[in-house]
Amino acid sequence: MKLNIVKFGDPILQQKAEPVTEFNAKLKELVANMFETMYDAPGVGLAAPQVGVSKRLFVMDCSKDHSRQFVFINPEILSNEGNQKGDEGCLSFPGIYFAVERPLRVVVSAQDVDGKKFTVDLMELEARCAVHETDHLDGELFINRVGPLKRDIIKGRIKKMIKAGKW
Ligand SMILES: [Zn+2]
Repeated sequence: MKLNIVKFGDPILQQKAEPVTEFNAKLKELVANMFETMYDAPGVGLAAPQVGVSKRLFVMDCSKDHSRQFVFINPEILSNEGNQKGDEGCLSFPGIYFAVERPLRVVVSAQDVDGKKFTVDLMELEARCAVHETDHLDGELFINRVGPLKRDIIKGRIKKMIKAGKW
């Protein structure tokens, strides 16, 4: 089932999400629905707060053919190295893209849908996405990863879209 994606302005996006403690059928259903919602959008990553669920999990697939599915539950970024600068978007900021600096490589540990722990080493777009989505779980949004001047310009664009009824 496709879920509704909340947009910037909804307070849930700026809250720290709660750890997932129950690995049950309801969690598996949420994950399946999040993948469906993300692919439909379309996007490469989606965090639970973006569908109105303040829990620490996100789904990701940066491939073009749905072949690199990841579910990260209670993720932690163990290490990062290098940096990359490139345009980034967010499903909670439709139509807004701007350059953000991120690590080039990250090592992330998390639990899967059954609660089993795993660690994965990610590069480039997957590293960018994993950091962006982990930020969501702390109520941290990508507009906080640019300078104040640029942030004001982006917020101005959003205000205009809200006024025009396009947000
Ligand atoms: Zn996002």
